[in-house]
Amino acid sequence: MQRRVLELPDPVLREVAESIPVITPEVEALVDDMFATMHANFGIGLAAPQIGELLRLVVIELPPNEKDPQAGVPYVLINPELRRLGDRESMSEGCLSLPGFRAMVERAHTATVTYTGMDGRSARLDASGLLAQALQHEIDHLNGVLFIDHLDSLGELEQIPPDGLDWVPASADEDENHEDTQA
Ligand code: ZN
Repeated sequence: MQRRVLELPDPVLREVAESIPVITPEVEALVDDMFATMHANFGIGLAAPQIGELLRLVVIELPPNEKDPQAGVPYVLINPELRRLGDRESMSEGCLSLPGFRAMVERAHTATVTYTGMDGRSARLDASGLLAQALQHEIDHLNGVLFIDHLDSLGELEQIPPDGLDWVPASADEDENHEDTQA
């Protein structure tokens, strides 16, 4: 079921989410709702607090890309924790909770995350590029942090042109720094 995405300045987006102690049918239903909501909004990632559930739960699914085996894969991360971050670089970023805007954000180009999978087992994900960026963005949401918090000023926000709303990479060869990501 598609759910409503909370938008700024909703105070729920500033709360710290709670760990999930056990994967219940309610958690499974929430994961389904998160994918439905993310897909309906052309997002590449969604954190549970964005639909008003203050739980440490993230879903990510990058658009399929032949050159990237991690793209097109639906990831469900329960209680994710960033373990290792690589060198930082500036990446274009947006957020479903702040529709119509994007900005260049400093993110680590590589990230290692540990989490619990839907099977209840501990898992580890080594990511780079867009997936690493999405992981950092979504885990921020679990701590009440938004991408605008990484900017020196809100003047760095840029309005996304109407034809830039659909998430369609112009070309597989395009530098991913110039792609728009909404998470
Ligand atoms: Zn977001």
